[in-house]
Amino acid sequence: MAGEAGGPGEADLVLRGGRVIDPESGLDAVADVAVTGDRVTAVGAGLPPGRAELDAAGQVVTAGFIDLHSHVNGVAGLRLQAMDGVTTALELEAGVTPVAAAYDRAAAQGRPVNYGFATSWALARMEAVAGVSLDGSLATFLANIARPEWQGAATAAQTSALAARLEADLADGALGVGVLAGYAPGADPAEYLRVAGLAAAAGAPAFTHARDLIELVPHGLIDGPEEIVRAAAETGAQMHYCHINSTSLRHIDRVLALVEAAQQAGSRVTTEAYPYGSGMTGIGAAFLSPERLPERGLNPSSLVYAPTGERVADEARLRELRRSDPGGLVIIEQLDEADAGDRELLMRSLAFPGGIVASDAMPLTWTGAEPDPMTWPLPPGAFTHPRTAGTFSRALRLLIAGGQVPLAEAVAKCSLFPARLLQNRVPALRRKGRVQPGADADLVVFDPATISDQATYTQTTRPSTGITHVLVNGTFVVRDTELDPAVLPGRPVRAAPH
Ligand SMILES: [Zn+2]
Repeated sequence: MAGEAGGPGEADLVLRGGRVIDPESGLDAVADVAVTGDRVTAVGAGLPPGRAELDAAGQVVTAGFIDLHSHVNGVAGLRLQAMDGVTTALELEAGVTPVAAAYDRAAAQGRPVNYGFATSWALARMEAVAGVSLDGSLATFLANIARPEWQGAATAAQTSALAARLEADLADGALGVGVLAGYAPGADPAEYLRVAGLAAAAGAPAFTHARDLIELVPHGLIDGPEEIVRAAAETGAQMHYCHINSTSLRHIDRVLALVEAAQQAGSRVTTEAYPYGSGMTGIGAAFLSPERLPERGLNPSSLVYAPTGERVADEARLRELRRSDPGGLVIIEQLDEADAGDRELLMRSLAFPGGIVASDAMPLTWTGAEPDPMTWPLPPGAFTHPRTAGTFSRALRLLIAGGQVPLAEAVAKCSLFPARLLQNRVPALRRKGRVQPGADADLVVFDPATISDQATYTQTTRPSTGITHVLVNGTFVVRDTELDPAVLPGRPVRAAPH
């Protein structure tokens, strides 16, 4: 069909004259990118006019960011991620179960970016060991996070039951297995190996929140980093080490050396990091009990409770909040971003060769009544970790400014590397993380001179700047730095045709 402006074969859109970066092919040059429908159709200099044209001179044009670690479960938070350049946001570390319920809910609500889920060892364990009923939501994990029953050893029958749950989800298209090992310190290391083994059998990666470091918890059942690399070696599973920054803290060099040695020995171990010194999780987490805070050099006032914004005053208040609202989210002040030495530790986890940028984006906590989820701009009253809105622009800013890694490699950490991690299990990922003919038209256009996070620990939902356009499946979600609240072009990403 010929439109008024041109003939057959004319592209819907040409992004004209940007610095096109496609790390897989090595392309890093001024070029045009043509998009028709939901695909990139051509990449090169001097492409013919399209039905629509956009001048990208002075901007980087590259694949949209693929976030392996997003706990955001609603449109509002995902819009913040889109404004940070994210075009695919996956819940892989915690996971959910049953995954079918999570996919159904996301499809019914609509999503601004592509979405997908791993199955959840923690939730399967809560069901098998503590009788929790499941609904495919992370909220169920948070609501039960503090219950001691699920954090201890399981019987053989319980372990088999939870393994069956994980296998059912994998058969149902789950992208991988999320293993929140650090939240159930009493789980038998043999169970972890069994879970890694079933992931390997399904050709699925496992995503681990590591158990505690032996340096911090000498009486732990096993050193968290050792557990991950051992599972990769013994089972052949593809083991992904989540937020290596926040679980390694000032022991990052020891942990990165262990990972590097495992990689050199041929094990499939990958890592991710986010560029912030503080963490965030449910206040009822095992490792946030008053007795255990000193393991990390923390005290109750290291915690900021999201629902009220209060700094936890003392041990009594911490106990009260853990009892009354165990799933309430707290900022955990760990590394000090004002300290040059601590910033350097963060940069080492971020710049680790082959390491991936992933946000650990969190659901929004509303300090007042929760508004209609479609409301945009975001009304006041939302609180989250700044990583939700700012991880990718902050990581790029730091990596570029420090000259730590070339721009093409910094971009690969946000798109190509996560696509490659998943693409054996999820063939659809072969079309993402690339700017090539036939690739999905998930694209980000940003100004490398000005790209920056704006969210802070007090202004937690300020969108990033310097990100000019974001397309998801060929549809502008962000255009000329403005989010379009009328569109929800995100699609499910699944391991197999469904
Ligand atoms: Zn985690």
